[in-house]
Amino acid sequence: MQDSERLSAKLSKFKPSLTLLLKRLAEMRRASGLPVYDFGLGETRGSLDPHVREAGRRAFDEEHTMYGDPAGLPELRSAALRWLGLEREYGPENVVVTAGAKQALFNLFLAVLNPSDAVLLDSAPWVSYQPLIISAYGFPVMVLPLAGDRRRLKITAEDLRRNLRVRPHAKMFLLNNPVNPTGQAYSAEEVEELLRVCVEHRIYFVLDRLYWRIYFDGARFPEPRVDAETKPWLVQIDGMSKNFRRTGGLRIGWSVGPADLSQAMANLQSHYTAGPAVPTQRVALDALLRPYDGSMVRELEGHRDLLHRRAEGLPRVAIWETPATFYSFWDVRACFGCRTPAGRALETSDDVAAYLLEEAGVVTAPGSAFMQDGFLRLSFSTTADQIEGGMAAARRALEALR
Ligand code: PLP
Repeated sequence: MQDSERLSAKLSKFKPSLTLLLKRLAEMRRASGLPVYDFGLGETRGSLDPHVREAGRRAFDEEHTMYGDPAGLPELRSAALRWLGLEREYGPENVVVTAGAKQALFNLFLAVLNPSDAVLLDSAPWVSYQPLIISAYGFPVMVLPLAGDRRRLKITAEDLRRNLRVRPHAKMFLLNNPVNPTGQAYSAEEVEELLRVCVEHRIYFVLDRLYWRIYFDGARFPEPRVDAETKPWLVQIDGMSKNFRRTGGLRIGWSVGPADLSQAMANLQSHYTAGPAVPTQRVALDALLRPYDGSMVRELEGHRDLLHRRAEGLPRVAIWETPATFYSFWDVRACFGCRTPAGRALETSDDVAAYLLEEAGVVTAPGSAFMQDGFLRLSFSTTADQIEGGMAAARRALEALR
């Protein structure tokens, strides 16, 4: 075996998650006493709901620590359907509980893809879609919008059709709505048109709805049409990580889809994880059975408004509206060609992100993480103080560019 063969060649096709790398850099800065304003990592904070905490304690007190059903606890699968309002359309046999939404996606790719089958992605795909697809020997393809900036990187049914004409081996189209990283929201009509194209072409329409409760200004998540025509092709991915406070580390997600596919995914995970940890499934069950507490979403809406007020008029930055999620999306292409006070030229959004971190302690996620150079993503799932301090520091750094 050659040295170059010690690891699978597929690993050379992707890098470790950049958002985690940024977290490490910020921790190093903090350790050396420098200020850090962290808008980099996408997770909810605050305090865990006391009932949920108690459910965790109870799970251990009652010794719920033996193997569970590999597809997930049946009562949690039913609760997930009720949480999604899908209890009339589906039964527990359509649900697989997973170690986070990531594993639901990986199960799906492993269960559906043959080598080199294409997976069509929207135009600013979330950072882990491609590594997961490649690990399942699939072929990720970004669908780019023809309409340009006006649609804020949202694609249309026509964009999807155009790609399907040249990709006969496409097996699925994966849409994240609302969108991480751009914070944009596809409307009910836009979702329906994309879904219709998938049904016509007999490919899966995978809807990653992980942020579906986090809509602002009174708007709501547009549910996809679930009926006899769409059900064989529709797979929904969801989980605990974003819609509750401080729950990313529970590692609980789920998929809802056709029974044959769900059975195949459950069989797979019975071999490689035997299902997610039973105590955290019980915690998730408790959270799903309670009425949803909308206070986190209201708080995030306040943070969005604060960030956008404080960032108003920042030089060389165009900030998009954020109708949903907790991400503010910044077009920083006007910074390209500028020089920092130290004389370094900024050529990419990685350069802009590095400059903001070094000069101002402001951590962002640069466009390279989601295949769209020219943009930065800032998470406002943080404190008001961080937003105030971070925007003032970012302003000083951006004003210093020449
Ligand atoms: N899908 C999207 C769009 C995400 O943003 C994330 C996490 O950031 C995931 C899936 C994975 O979620 P989980 O942490 O539940 O595995």
